[in-house]
Amino acid sequence: MKVALGMFYHEANSFNPKMVEKDDFVYVEGQEVIDRMFASEVFQDANAELVPLIYCNTLPNGIVRREAYDFYSNRILEILSENKDVDGVMLHLHGSMEVEGLGSGEYDLLKKIRQLLGPDVIIGIALDAHANTHPEFCKLVNAVRNYRTIPHTDQNVTEQTVARHMVKCIQEGRKTVPQFVRLPYAIHAEKATMATWPLSEIYEKLWKLEERQEVAIATLGIGMMWCDCETLATNVAVTPSKEEYTDYCKALAKELADYVYGLRDSFDFEQLPLSPHEAARYSVRFEGTPVYVSDSGDNTTGGAVGDHTIMLREYLNLREYYGKKILVTTIWDENALAVCMEHKEGDEIEISIGHDYDENTKAVLVKGKIKKKGKLRGYMGCEDDEVGDVVTIETEHVDIVLCGHAGSFISVRHFTDGAGLNMDDYQVIVVKQGYLFAELRKLAKLAILALTPGGTHQLVENLEYHNIKPPVYPLQYVPK
Ligand SMILES: [Zn+2]
Repeated sequence: MKVALGMFYHEANSFNPKMVEKDDFVYVEGQEVIDRMFASEVFQDANAELVPLIYCNTLPNGIVRREAYDFYSNRILEILSENKDVDGVMLHLHGSMEVEGLGSGEYDLLKKIRQLLGPDVIIGIALDAHANTHPEFCKLVNAVRNYRTIPHTDQNVTEQTVARHMVKCIQEGRKTVPQFVRLPYAIHAEKATMATWPLSEIYEKLWKLEERQEVAIATLGIGMMWCDCETLATNVAVTPSKEEYTDYCKALAKELADYVYGLRDSFDFEQLPLSPHEAARYSVRFEGTPVYVSDSGDNTTGGAVGDHTIMLREYLNLREYYGKKILVTTIWDENALAVCMEHKEGDEIEISIGHDYDENTKAVLVKGKIKKKGKLRGYMGCEDDEVGDVVTIETEHVDIVLCGHAGSFISVRHFTDGAGLNMDDYQVIVVKQGYLFAELRKLAKLAILALTPGGTHQLVENLEYHNIKPPVYPLQYVPK
């Protein structure tokens, strides 16, 4: 058995005007791809020969520049064209990679892989939970599974479940096709976390469905609400365990879609939603610590720009801090960062922070000292990779982490090993996130969703969508 595997992962946000360039990705080839993929273990246990494709990942951001997409997708196709004798191809994709002038990157890539390798090669796909899967995508693959954790912690289970089904298909000569249903609806990302009903119930149901002998994988794609594109929608797919169960799984997928659609008005925010002004005041008054505050409209893990100074200004303007020390993380200002980098730790500094393009990025003058110089770490699956510099400026009540491009502190390591900070120094921590990532959620005594404006604005009912294929409840389609 010979299997090629790799990752090409990006979540596009069309409300972010910055396009994703080739160099924005963390990118490796060769043995390191095999080392980084969770699926490798399953294929190695089946004595498969592994062909590394590419491992390529970046923080969510705008739409992918065509040139960047072509570069990475062509590398995958080049390696596959040198290995046309593979029995299987396993890819870890996002499912919401919108590409300039092309639409769904995942769909385009899979079409090209099928054209190159023909109908007999078994293709298995691991997707993010927030995939806007193209309706024709599942016809091109043999197994598909989305992550089943929010925040995401089961990339390993997802890859390995797909890999196990692929091994079975290859060994038994089967070609299953996942049965896909697109819903006329999109679940709100911040209203669907594992800790809360009804997502918890839906995920429980998926596990139960997979106990049936007819079902290999039952999966839910929540969708990505901040990408105004044709494929924006919640979706479900059921991969049969054998070809003869295809009709059974088709009916089951329809049933599952109806069930999810029936719950459409039951989702609500898990974190406490407050205006930016209220969020700052509430967080310092709250007795338990630490309090985490998500700058949810500028959530870089949902593809927002990451340069807003709204929450920083709210905290700097507080009259009363109740003895609390606040950390405002990852404001993107490459100019301020460059100035700080010329100083050494301990130097006094007076500096303007903010791109000052508009009200959201309004510059603010800060007086303090350089507390720490450190490194920005990469996104999911690339937390060990250093992707830029960070500098923390200390002021009396508020410390500020600056970076040279969009960033987000998604794990404890981002704060400690990366930025060199002691998290215990802070009672309030502001992050460029929506729902908190798993490690931070566990630490938070209170998690507040500050309803800031930006590319991941939470009140999606108020946004105008021009490219969706209506109906996508509750989003409003406004023709161009
Ligand atoms: Zn996701």
